[in-house]
Amino acid sequence: MKRYLILTTVLFIAGSLSAQKFPKPGCSTVLAEAMFAEVDTTKPRGVSDNYHTWENGAVLLVKFMPGGSKMLRDKVILSAKEWEKYANIKFQFVADTARNTNIRVKLGKGSGHNSAVGTEANFRSQSEQTMNFDTLFFADIDYYLAKLQRKGIKPPYNLNQLAAEMKEEPNRWNEKELRRVVTHEFGHAIGLLHEQSFPGAVNWKRTDSVYNYYLQTQGWDRAKVDFNVFEVADQFYTNGTTYDPKSIMHYSIEPWQTTDGYSLKDNYELSQGDKTLIAALYPKNQKVSSLVVPKVDITNFAKLNVVSNTTRNGLVIEPSFDLKTNPKLGEVYFVARLATEDGYYLKTSSLYYNWGGTVAAYKKMNLLPNSKVSYNKTKKNFELFLPFDYVPETYGKKVIVVFAVYLDDVANKQMDKLMYFSTTTPLSLPR
Ligand SMILES: [Zn+2]
Repeated sequence: MKRYLILTTVLFIAGSLSAQKFPKPGCSTVLAEAMFAEVDTTKPRGVSDNYHTWENGAVLLVKFMPGGSKMLRDKVILSAKEWEKYANIKFQFVADTARNTNIRVKLGKGSGHNSAVGTEANFRSQSEQTMNFDTLFFADIDYYLAKLQRKGIKPPYNLNQLAAEMKEEPNRWNEKELRRVVTHEFGHAIGLLHEQSFPGAVNWKRTDSVYNYYLQTQGWDRAKVDFNVFEVADQFYTNGTTYDPKSIMHYSIEPWQTTDGYSLKDNYELSQGDKTLIAALYPKNQKVSSLVVPKVDITNFAKLNVVSNTTRNGLVIEPSFDLKTNPKLGEVYFVARLATEDGYYLKTSSLYYNWGGTVAAYKKMNLLPNSKVSYNKTKKNFELFLPFDYVPETYGKKVIVVFAVYLDDVANKQMDKLMYFSTTTPLSLPR
């Protein structure tokens, strides 16, 4: 059982080095925040992450973070809504001032294109975006380059010059590219993963040249390339589909990147496979998808209350949130681990208070299907307790408490699904 690492996922859209002018930013959707140093290479990837799809028929509230012209926002909305034609899901775009939303879109520069995967958006605070678009790469680059030329400025041009031109004359957009990236990222937002992780689909060359390519075009280190590019999904996540090279969720591939010369250009439209899969995950003609797996949805996470109780000689940890189960039952664990301020879990070899070799208090929860429970909302009804005797010496260093909810789907042999994740700010432990 791998229970060491936390990795939330943001998936990035990869673009090929668009040979012409500027390298497109890759889709930098990481499947969870990589707040701890290592990357969990066991995390399954694939066609869809069934554990993080929204409820069938959900109306998702979407807002824009400050920024982005009305014209640009309207184009984003139009492309996002493409999915509504096939999926029983609605994106309801609400005012920027809305306090509680499911998806928050940031239109800006420098953060790449990326999105939280499905309900992993719930891990983010309401003040934080769940989706980023780098608007520089939505520009009608040919138009702006022609302007620079007309001004007598000689190539090579850089992104700062492009940004300056966009400021001077805004709203010249590359509709085709914008549509491709927006549909791809909204695909992540409703639970789809990268199609190139379909088992056996792509025989990547795992050579320095490929790692260097992604370092130079995307700024990704080796771990990120392993995760975003090379990782292969468990067969389970293909949902019985066949590999779909036309999927909007597929990266483009250069022939030199594969052992057999396989290559692929960017796809600009939803494929038949995309439409079929999303309709199966969110069917319009039935209440619950036949692809449904056990899930717990955690919302309204208010705070993670941690109290040093000197009488009981330990830490009392009280997370506060609402939980909802779906029609299927899994085994659910609430886990509170200790980590150093810089993001490493404290290790233990003790028989007790040990979660995969790390110091933790945890409980297996007994939950019913289709139920709702509130923890520590109106009354105190849940705590995790970690005795100081089981906490290793931290030599005066502060620690953070990491609360996570895991689900084991024993029937499908899919274990350790991260359903929620939250941390405290650094705190000192009394000794
Ligand atoms: Zn992506």
